[in-house]
Amino acid sequence: MTTDNRFTDREALGFNKFESRYRPFWWEEYCGYDSSQSLHRLRRLVSKDELPPVIALIGPPGTGKTSLGRTLQAWAFCQQPVHPDRGCGTCNACRSIRRDPACHRSSEWRVEYDGANDSVDYINREVDHGCGNLSRALFQTNEEFASTRGVVVVIDEFHRIRNDQQEKLLKRIEDLDCINFVLMTTHKDKIDPAILDRLALNCFYFNDPSIDGLKEHLCLIANRNNKKLEADGAVLIAQQCKQKMRSCISAMKELCLTNSETITKSDVEELFGIVQTNSDKTGDIDVAFI
Ligand SMILES: [Zn+2]
Repeated sequence: MTTDNRFTDREALGFNKFESRYRPFWWEEYCGYDSSQSLHRLRRLVSKDELPPVIALIGPPGTGKTSLGRTLQAWAFCQQPVHPDRGCGTCNACRSIRRDPACHRSSEWRVEYDGANDSVDYINREVDHGCGNLSRALFQTNEEFASTRGVVVVIDEFHRIRNDQQEKLLKRIEDLDCINFVLMTTHKDKIDPAILDRLALNCFYFNDPSIDGLKEHLCLIANRNNKKLEADGAVLIAQQCKQKMRSCISAMKELCLTNSETITKSDVEELFGIVQTNSDKTGDIDVAFI
């Protein structure tokens, strides 16, 4: 895939919602992460089929960890794996992982837990005895699962699990060589230091995408909607959204509804309620579309 092909044909592929059309799904779509060694390292490991059994994605909210989890799941679960490092995007598994509501077997391909809602006992029980989606993925060798590369289990908000429980879970899952676990956290300081030591090189750190990267991404979104976004307007969106990809995409959803072909900086100022004569107040406007 070349740069020019990013985010094309998304509707034809079944990415129906605006937000899902422009959220990164394939590696080259993570605009603004050029300086992220973690992203490059992860992609290298995946392309050589050397993803460690347990990895941790660490970074503030909105830095693409959830999207990356889906990129990894699609790579592993894809039923038509034709690329060494990514899912096809169109098979049942890929469509389910990227939340396509038209996918009729949606839940079966997701193996995700949330440290805030799912107890360690519950996760351990699934790991030990196999039930629910994990069971299907691990213990059933039907045609659909047989064609996949493996199983990637995502545990979000890992820091919400108590420290002693984190250790209990990690000990258990380290022994499972047939599954890759992706632990995600926004609070490295709440992870047991002993666990961080054990994960060592398998921690991957993410920060907000760069303004330049977001600018490129937003201009690309405008282009895919047959519009032109002024560069200073794109920078303003990135700044107002505090460099959070999700908020930026929501802002673009609104801006692409305008009738004019060009989205100007003043369109952006209007959206964010920026009064030019009182520019002192422009820095603290929050966006909460989704
Ligand atoms: Zn696929």
